[in-house]
Amino acid sequence: MLISLFVAWQVQRQALLENAQESSRAYALKVASGVDDFIYGAHRRLGYSAALIGDALTDDRLLTEESHRLLDQDASFGAVIIINAAGKILKATPERLGLLGRVTHADGSEEALREQRPMVSNVFEATSGGQVVFITMPVRDKGGQYRGLIGGAINVRKQGTLHTLASDHFNRDGTRTYIVDRVGRIIHHPDPARVGTLVDKALMYYCARSESSGPLLLQTSEGDSVIAGFARVPLSGWLVVSERTRASTLVALEPLIRKMFLSILPFAIAIVVAIWWLAHLISRPLRLLARGVAGPDTRENIERIRGVLTWYREAFSIKQELLKGMGTMQDTIRRLNTQAHTDPLTGLANRRAKREALRKMEAAGQPFAVVVLDIDHFKAINDTWGHEAGDATLCHLARLLEACSREGDIVCRIGGEEFMLLLPATPLVEAAKVGERVRKRVAGSAVNGVGTITVSLGIAGWPVSGRKPADVVKQADRLMYRAKQAGRNRLYVDTP
Ligand code: GH3
Ligand code: MG
Ligand code: MG
Repeated sequence: MLISLFVAWQVQRQALLENAQESSRAYALKVASGVDDFIYGAHRRLGYSAALIGDALTDDRLLTEESHRLLDQDASFGAVIIINAAGKILKATPERLGLLGRVTHADGSEEALREQRPMVSNVFEATSGGQVVFITMPVRDKGGQYRGLIGGAINVRKQGTLHTLASDHFNRDGTRTYIVDRVGRIIHHPDPARVGTLVDKALMYYCARSESSGPLLLQTSEGDSVIAGFARVPLSGWLVVSERTRASTLVALEPLIRKMFLSILPFAIAIVVAIWWLAHLISRPLRLLARGVAGPDTRENIERIRGVLTWYREAFSIKQELLKGMGTMQDTIRRLNTQAHTDPLTGLANRRAKREALRKMEAAGQPFAVVVLDIDHFKAINDTWGHEAGDATLCHLARLLEACSREGDIVCRIGGEEFMLLLPATPLVEAAKVGERVRKRVAGSAVNGVGTITVSLGIAGWPVSGRKPADVVKQADRLMYRAKQAGRNRLYVDTP
């Protein structure tokens, strides 16, 4: 919004300045053409009289008549003067000017006598006082011989057609228009004090180089920059300059931009709200996923992550990858956990698993029986048949123990050739039966390449007052050793 306002401000400002310049130029052109028409009309009227008096310059009555007629006809003329080719004033109306009979030295008439063509003078100080411009027509006789001139003087300080033409729009929206003669002296200006003074040389220089009309960039004497246009009056070579200050041109800019700001504002607010809402929608799944990942690696949390509504492809991919990662992690943890609780040789539970199982049963107050058994003379098997045969024997016994146990029983290898059966909710009598069955099965089956083996067993139960589960295991262990001492391949049951 700010960018568009800035751009609009720039563009509007430029447009206003260009418009102002163009309208100044057009206005100057219009005034120039009006002034030109006025001069043309004056020349026509003077020309008519010039034709009449061409052969009768000695006819004073005719000269008086014509000069009076011109004075009456053209309100702009302050005086009408007829001069012969030698520069002698033959007629000056009104007579009170006292010019009659003199030889003219006024700028306007001297130049016109020299040029012998229709002329418009620059501003000059009249002999009778006041600043005037002199519009003249040559007077010729029937043979075409130059006999003098007839001219109308316009007092530039007095109100007249010239003022009306240029002042029409004086001060309208800060515009002012002035007329300058060929040497840069002001003929008309809204500020009367400036009439007759010279304008800046730079302006004259610039206008002299340019075409008949164009834009101008000026500085006022107060340092304000102004936008101006100028036009040349073809018949007189005068310049019409129409100018307005930059500040007055740009006053329209601020309300324009304010209006624009107010019309953009609702859209901008709507867009911001829409962006905010969309950003919220986009970030929501990411936020929920992040919260899920930050939480503990529980099944519940994984379910929560799975439940996050991922409505766009990227969030969906992130969710899938997260779930996959967490799944893999869980699998790995499960596998490592299993490994940590498993004896690698026999695949049975190990001492760590045994310890945890006992802890759980103690915590749950779960009664259990424990059968500890140890292979008899195992060292001899190793020594006789080698370690591999010893390992095979251990595996054989592991499978046999598994076969003898029920669902829920825990079979562990707790030492080199020492095993344990953990029988939940089993009374000692039942455990003794299991132990006896094991002993018989072991003794009754042959191990490949080793032959028959035997085991000694000790059996105890929990709860027993004053004993922790670990103490019960120790008791079973003691009973197992007692069975060894008693000759092996037998079973001792605790009698608490
Ligand atoms: P007893 O009847 O008194 O139990 O005599 P034993 O020889 O079985 O007892 P002892 O504790 O003297 O010997 C146990 C042997 O078990 C010692 C060790 O070399 C062997 N052993 C321990 N772990 C393993 C194993 O993982 N593989 C094999 N092959 N042998 C093992
Ligand atoms: Mg042994
Ligand atoms: Mg042993």
